Amino acid sequence: MKIAFIASECVPFVKTGGLADVCGALPLALERIKVPTVIVIPYYREVNTRGFKVKQLSATVAQTVLGKSIRVYLIKSKKYFDRVGLYGSAKGDFEDNLERYQYFCEQALGVIREYEADVNIVHCHDWQASLVPVLLKTKYKKDTAFARLKCLLTIHNLAFQGIFTYQQFKQTGFDAKLFGPNGFEFYGRMNLLKAGIIFSDMITSVSKSYAAEIQTADFGCGLEGVLKQKKNKPTGIVNGIDCDIWNPAHDKHLLKKYSAKSFVSGKKTHKEYLQKKFKFEVSPNVPLFGFVGRVTHQKGADLIAEAILQFEEKDAQFVIQGLGDQSITEKLKRTMRLMKKNVATVFEFDERLAHRIYAGSDFFLMPSRFEPCGLSQMISMRYGTLPLVNQTGGLADTVVPHKKRNGTGFVMTKPSIDTLVANIEEAIKVYANSTKMKRLIVSGFNADFSWDKSAKEYKKVYACL
Ligand code: ADP
Repeated sequence: MKIAFIASECVPFVKTGGLADVCGALPLALERIKVPTVIVIPYYREVNTRGFKVKQLSATVAQTVLGKSIRVYLIKSKKYFDRVGLYGSAKGDFEDNLERYQYFCEQALGVIREYEADVNIVHCHDWQASLVPVLLKTKYKKDTAFARLKCLLTIHNLAFQGIFTYQQFKQTGFDAKLFGPNGFEFYGRMNLLKAGIIFSDMITSVSKSYAAEIQTADFGCGLEGVLKQKKNKPTGIVNGIDCDIWNPAHDKHLLKKYSAKSFVSGKKTHKEYLQKKFKFEVSPNVPLFGFVGRVTHQKGADLIAEAILQFEEKDAQFVIQGLGDQSITEKLKRTMRLMKKNVATVFEFDERLAHRIYAGSDFFLMPSRFEPCGLSQMISMRYGTLPLVNQTGGLADTVVPHKKRNGTGFVMTKPSIDTLVANIEEAIKVYANSTKMKRLIVSGFNADFSWDKSAKEYKKVYACL
């Protein structure tokens, strides 16, 4: 068994979200259980400028390494990948995204043909890699170089499907017959993820709850029928986190390292750092709520902007970091202007500050309307910060409500401003009870979010292909 990961981002080379964390950590966990992998990603300008040691293999392919020995192939193209941004700019998605990822998928298969002839499973991720299964089952159906290849597609977020116009489909060179209900066609447009689902041998998603949710009309984003029709129903395998990167005992971004045994002083240092940095009152008595993530409707960032208006500076402090929708960003800015003494916003992608927010917050806000898996809630538990989440997808699978034995956080029953306010109020009450806080924090530290268990589950799925 040898697996080729085909994905649009991968830590530490390039990251916009959790997909990158998964593609950087799962291959390492598979390596530990003797499943060999290689990785193929685009050679974006950002990767090029970050100083990785790279070997040129051809005009279109370069190679670097993940961990000690996992080969990472970088697909080069001045036209498609040498630009600022991965998928778009402030103006919106790049207009040539279809061409870009069609090129990427073709080249990724070229890498397998040229350099990795013993790969027998392609593990594709999200819409950007969805043309791989389509190409394998159509254009390359009779190609002996690929005859052994089986395809697993993992859906990290069904809300992103890669949708293009019929006119754009006509430019791709795919057989016109593929633009039908059993192919790309989706309400008159071209849908890459839909075709990827149809042509893959197996589908997984990133938590058990989300794998079930996406087969319903409420969460299926129009693809619930296609998913339900698959002979092999989508399986859910919860993501882990990279426990080497996300470990307060070794974290290079922290001002003071700490562990489950020394979290009190470690967290105090970072809380004071945040309070000073954002000119809040420096006090251990006021609970600090953090948010790191995409500022979007999915993440409930709009709910946060409204809910926190209810809390005075003596009640709670809020540090919000993220990039995303203009209108929600404006809402948050407005909230911050009204509440400078206890609300701070940072609209940047900043790894170091993110790590310090995980470490210095008492609670982590994650009221997502839907959440395929979510990494931030697991990261926060590993940093001794109690997550406050909505009961959906991976959040429901990974956070235990605080009233239960082994409770690790706060779980809202629906995503609304009122329930968020009520849960923040409850968290503030619990904050006053240091014995209970300590018990919850320790339960979070003790929870196992490593990749090892999930890697074994992927191995089982690969074996079924
Ligand atoms: P997503 O839906 O965006 O993939 P996840 O919770 O699965 O959400 O993963 C988000 C990852 O991206 C986490 O590692 C989080 O810390 C990181 N992240 C998100 N926004 C920022 C930001 N503005 N700065 C730094 N890290 C960020």
